[in-house]
Amino acid sequence: MQSQQKYAQKLSLEFFPPRTEKGTEKLKSVIQDLGAINPEYMSVTYGAGGTTQEKTVETVRYIQRETPFSAAPHLTCIGATEESVLHLLNEYEAMGVKRIVALRGDLPSGMMDPGEFKYASDLVAFIKQQKGDTFHLEVAAYPETHPQARNCDIGIKWFKHKVEQGADSAITQYFFNFDSYRYFIDNCEKNGIDLPIIPGIMPITNYENLIRFSQGCGAEVPRWLKCRLESFDNDQAGLLEFGQDVVTELSQKLLDAGAPGIHFYSMNNTQPTLAIAQALTLK
Ligand code: FAD
Repeated sequence: MQSQQKYAQKLSLEFFPPRTEKGTEKLKSVIQDLGAINPEYMSVTYGAGGTTQEKTVETVRYIQRETPFSAAPHLTCIGATEESVLHLLNEYEAMGVKRIVALRGDLPSGMMDPGEFKYASDLVAFIKQQKGDTFHLEVAAYPETHPQARNCDIGIKWFKHKVEQGADSAITQYFFNFDSYRYFIDNCEKNGIDLPIIPGIMPITNYENLIRFSQGCGAEVPRWLKCRLESFDNDQAGLLEFGQDVVTELSQKLLDAGAPGIHFYSMNNTQPTLAIAQALTLK
């Protein structure tokens, strides 16, 4: 974990672009409430090949122009062309965006054409080539290994390649097992990968959604945690309280071990992210 201890610890937030008027109004108040934790940036997800892309741009524009916070748009490259990516980069540059989360994304079912980029590393290289150091580039990291990587050594090999194309820092997929992060960082150190790798943390708010989402993205919900969450049945308040304790403890343990901050997958909700973040002690 030594390589991570030299970086300052910062908090950041992730939102998804709302699709409805009601969702938009809610997100505005969530942004205001969560602003209390003084986030380094607020990232906004981007649907690979999907129809919500314009909503991402709108949300980024809102954060940049109408709040005191900095937006970091996610940009997925699967299904995109160099021309479409460059168009977005120009738009974000004009808005004063300084940070981009560069991703491959997953081809939506039924969409066959992967476009002009195969991997996130191609996108990172393209952004560097077109825009130099205009943007701080975040990339994704997988302490429990990306579901499509045959094993963790192959995962590390391609992660290193992506970093070498010009990534400045990384955000992890969420996890509930502290050791998965620790071993991942150790493996990065052994492989000469040296950049801030910020744990992505998912607050627990709904058992079924968490299980379904985790199956899709390859994040493990440990058996003990599943059993405890199941036992709350219809007791939503009990589940929230327990989930908040578990996630606060995990986050503090990561910070105490030297993780360079926490990135919260807020799911556009003020709580429990606010309570967890306010309970943390940063160095
Ligand atoms: P890559 O880094 O390209 O890796 C994808 C797979 O390909 C890995 O298995 C890797 O080992 C392998 N690989 C990489 N390079 C090579 C190569 N040259 N040759 C062979 N194999 C290779 N998805 C969205 O649609 N929108 C979002 O906004 C979004 N935000 C995210 C934010 C974070 C922090 C994280 C962790 C994930 C996010 N995702 C998002 C999900 C992400 O798009 C998926 O996990 C996707 O499957 C992989 O994206 P990547 O950028 O990690 O891809």
